[in-house]
Amino acid sequence: MADSQRTAGKDSSREQSKNPRHAARMAKKKAVIDAAIAAATDEHGLLIVITGNGKGKSTSAFGTVARALGHGMKVGVVQFIKSRTDTGEEAFLGQHAEWHVTGDGFTWDTQNREQDIATAQRGWAIAARMLADPTYRLVVLDELTYLLSYGYLDSDSVLDALAQRPPLQHVIVTGRGAPDALIELADTVSIIADEKHAFRAGVKAQPGIDL
Ligand code: ATP
Ligand code: MG
Repeated sequence: MADSQRTAGKDSSREQSKNPRHAARMAKKKAVIDAAIAAATDEHGLLIVITGNGKGKSTSAFGTVARALGHGMKVGVVQFIKSRTDTGEEAFLGQHAEWHVTGDGFTWDTQNREQDIATAQRGWAIAARMLADPTYRLVVLDELTYLLSYGYLDSDSVLDALAQRPPLQHVIVTGRGAPDALIELADTVSIIADEKHAFRAGVKAQPGIDL
């Protein structure tokens, strides 16, 4: 028998001896997961916060919009801060979801606090209407966190509207620097870390990826 065949035979018998151990480990894992699934019996609308400095907050929310639309749910999206209306998400998902772009751009673009506050309040009025209407099963409040951290909106009113929304309505809030009170109120919080971003290597915003 050639050396290589002998080595292959040894490798395969070592592999086979791992099988029962693997099966036992998986059975144990399955029992734990099944018990956790059986214990999770609650059903109610979730408040999800996606924050942090890494890329993927808004795109995560839009992925969930696609998922909810696939189930025939009514979805509302309010984009704060952002003023552009040529994004792929609006062109595609906006055909099926109610879509509002309510921003004037970033504060360093507008450089006008009074105007920013008036714009924020106009956007919030649309969001508040959705948060009071149980026919919306998912509401996305994209970049809402900035309006809270800059003090453009009254934090207590926003938190009250979120807390008192219809019981089966899901809400996703995105944006960096989510305030503690919002994180406290949320059911699910993901903080996306910024490890690398192509922009810092000089790559400009790419249609299909960044907008
Ligand atoms: P995305 O919409 O791609 O999911 P995001 O919502 O996580 O991004 P925003 O701060 O809203 O992050 O980003 C708006 C734009 O800035 C997007 O084009 C995004 O690719 C880009 N961006 C996001 N994070 C970073 C980062 N850490 N450095 C540079 N650019 C970023
Ligand atoms: Mg975003």
